[in-house]
Amino acid sequence: MAKFVGAHVSAAGGVHNAPLNAQEIGARAFALFTKNQRQWRAKPLTEEVIGRFKENLRRVGISPDHVLPHDSYLINLGHPEPEKRRRSLEAFIDEAERCSALGLKYLNFHPGSHLRQISEEECLELVALSLNEAMERTKGVVFVVENTAGQGSNVGYRFEHIARIVELVNDKSRIGVCLDTCHLFAAGYDIRDRSSYERTMEEFEKVVGFKYLKGMHLNDAKSGLGSRVDRHHSIGKGNIGLDAFRFIMNDPRLDGIPLILETIDPSLWPYEIELLYSLVE
Ligand SMILES: [Zn+2]
Ligand SMILES: [Zn+2]
Repeated sequence: MAKFVGAHVSAAGGVHNAPLNAQEIGARAFALFTKNQRQWRAKPLTEEVIGRFKENLRRVGISPDHVLPHDSYLINLGHPEPEKRRRSLEAFIDEAERCSALGLKYLNFHPGSHLRQISEEECLELVALSLNEAMERTKGVVFVVENTAGQGSNVGYRFEHIARIVELVNDKSRIGVCLDTCHLFAAGYDIRDRSSYERTMEEFEKVVGFKYLKGMHLNDAKSGLGSRVDRHHSIGKGNIGLDAFRFIMNDPRLDGIPLILETIDPSLWPYEIELLYSLVE
């Protein structure tokens, strides 16, 4: 099977529990927070926890290539105020180091928000500036920027925003992209039928390029097309509908990358994973 479907699982009790939680729902990939996502500070990972994480990952047979850690919601790499951007950047670098320590390749993040104090372009430039410093001060980790719904003052809702960040980053080998289906839809990119799906994916190829795609978030949407409102729903229950996920599960451009559920009812994850695999033709 070429598709690696999983979910953003809990790391409660320690990151070493995440691979086991993934296994429990039949996942072949997973996302996790390596620290409390609503706090700035975290205790460093102990050697014991790191060892147990690696051991559990091996035991459940999930490759580090299929793990997509997500950074804290507090981080804004495009913050208009220098001191606050600095705080975000230091926290981001700490997260990258946690990923490295766990033997993981990726760190998934939302680009940032201009907070109506600077333009979108200025915000994107600050995001890239932050990434360039983070790349200089860390080794190896690929920073995976996620498209957004464009809620509030978030940048990253147009493929052009993502492309601009990629363009301004010095080391292209360390920048990747994650496409979130709910965010795509809320931002106005339709994927509900064959022709709209192909149009959106072709535009992504043209503006950004599939070579940068390192993962996807599979979410249906409670919000409407182009609503700029970020409300996830369970697969097949929202405004996107099941067909889009059938196209995804049969799209060879999406082989080999983590496909992560961030849907609203974790008790449904085992069924959603099964459902998604059942769509493979
Ligand atoms: Zn997402
Ligand atoms: Zn979202």
